[in-house]
Order: sequence, then structure tokens, then C-alpha cells
Amino acid sequence: MISGHTKTLVILADPVAHVRTPEALNARMSEAGIDAVMVPAEVAPGDLAATVEGLRSIRNLAGLVVTVPHKTAMPALCDSLSQRAEIASSVNVVRRGADGRLHGDLLDGEGFMRGLSSTGTEISGKRIFLAGAGGAASAIAFSLAARGPACLTVANRSRAKAQDLVTRLTRAFPGLEAAVGDGPTGHDLAINGTSLGLKPEDPLPFEPAELLAGATVAEVIMQPETTALLDRAQELGLGTHAGRHMLDGQLAEMMDFLLTSGDPQI
Ligand code: NDP
Repeated sequence: MISGHTKTLVILADPVAHVRTPEALNARMSEAGIDAVMVPAEVAPGDLAATVEGLRSIRNLAGLVVTVPHKTAMPALCDSLSQRAEIASSVNVVRRGADGRLHGDLLDGEGFMRGLSSTGTEISGKRIFLAGAGGAASAIAFSLAARGPACLTVANRSRAKAQDLVTRLTRAFPGLEAAVGDGPTGHDLAINGTSLGLKPEDPLPFEPAELLAGATVAEVIMQPETTALLDRAQELGLGTHAGRHMLDGQLAEMMDFLLTSGDPQI
């Protein structure tokens, strides 16, 4: 039950009605007996700075979740950022410290990793193919790179964006073997980090038959829950990992990040 002691979380989006995070996070917090509530706030991009400045003064505000289209505008409104949020120039969670300072972080990549580990999928020593170089794929790439894969190949429709991501990755992780590629031949974990698969007419983001025997195909797409890519991988006898695991992982990461008291510096 909401009372005067309840911690408040606000999710900022535009539009917000289709965003499933409030429902999912409120259910999780209630199950866990946590006295906190998330409320949706639809804010136009031009009003974001004033909204954040106003929210800063709410003393029972634990923090913010930030989603489309505000993730890249948010870093400039925070007082401090995690290294990964700074590198990606993108923030999807903000914790409010007791002094009103706002610390931003980006949990997309860590949420994906938490989802992978929930199904026992290892990263260390794997040859990994990543399709995509947008926001979600970039965050995933940095979290993968931090876990010591044997190699990481990035493919993207706009090749220059894939090259830019590989450059940023190898600068941040000098020992990483990373390259731009075209397909998943010879890899044993392939991840779709693009938006391909949202629409029924979308082509596959890559051909799973090119993967090594016993490989796993992982998705970021949550709707539909089983994409044509996962169907194809299953037909071939490959392992599959659905996009909903990333959402589950993100919710767990958000609860840890937003509701952990103490120094907001990470
Ligand atoms: P971005 O717009 O930042 O990136 C989109 C990516 O998809 C780019 O790599 C883009 O390539 C590629 N792409 C889009 N259309 C096509 C196409 N027709 N052909 C080939 N490539 C294409 O979006 P996000 O990274 O934020 O989101 C990507 C997906 O991840 C979304 O579907 C989103 O729903 C999902 N997601 C899932 C989450 C979860 O919890 N499961 C969390 C966050 C996101 P290009 O650079 O060439 O445009």
C-alpha cells in the first residue's frame, strides 16, 4: 500500500502509454515487499530539462527510469555518470542521492548479461557475433567486451556505425579481439541487437545456419516473444534465448540500482 513513507520512482518517456516497465516493476517490488512505486510521466523532449530539475527537489524520489526518446539527452542533465553511460552518451536510470545529486547509468547491457546468465549462457571464451550498432547493441557490446569473449564481430546495416563501435570498444578494452564483419560464420553465440523482427515482414538479421553446431542465438526483441530468427535457430537445433530475459534482467538491475542506498558514485 502506498503511504507517506513510500519511495517514488518516475519513468520518463514520450509516449509512455505503451511502456511496460511500470507494470512489471511495480509487480516485482510488490512481490519483494519493497515500499516503492513507479509512476509513468509523459514528457516532451523540449520539457525534459525543466522536468528533471523539478524532480530533483523531491526528497522521497529514489530515482528515474528514462526511455525513448530521452536516453541521449539525459547524460547532460545528470551530475555524475557511470563510465559505461559516459562512453555510450546514454542514460536509462538515474539515482537521486540524499543531497539531490543525480547519478546516471545505463543498464541495457548489464540487463542483457543478467538475462544470459539466468539461462546459463557463458560469455568467456566464446566467439560472439553481434548484429546491430544502435543504442541496445552498443550497450550489449560493452558489457560483452568486459567479460572476456574470444572475439567479438559486429555487423550493422550502416557499416560506419559498426566500425565506430568497434573503435570505441578496442579503445576501452585494448586486449579485445573485435572486428566488423558480415555474417556469423564460425561463431558460437550470435545476438540480434537490431530492431529487425519487430514486424512480421522483416528479414532475418543474420542466417543462423552459418553458426557453429551447438551455437546459441539470442534476441533483444521482446514482441513477438518468439521471432522468426529464434524459430529458424530452433529448427536448426541451435540454442535460443528470448528477448524477455533482457527485460527481466533489466528490471532486476533497476531495482538494485535505484533502491540501493548509499553513495551514488559507482
Ligand atoms: P536504435 O534505433 O538505436 O538501433 C536500431 C538498430 O537496428 C540499428 O543497428 C539499425 O541499423 C538496425 N536496423 C533498424 N532497421 C533495420 C533494417 N531495416 N535493416 C537492418 N538493420 C536495421 O534502437 P535500439 O538499439 O534502442 O533498439 C533496438 C531493439 O532493441 C528494439 O527493437 C528494442 O525493442 C530492443 N530493445 C529491447 C530491450 C529488452 O529489454 N529486451 C531493451 C532495449 C531495446 P542502422 O544503424 O543501420 O540504422
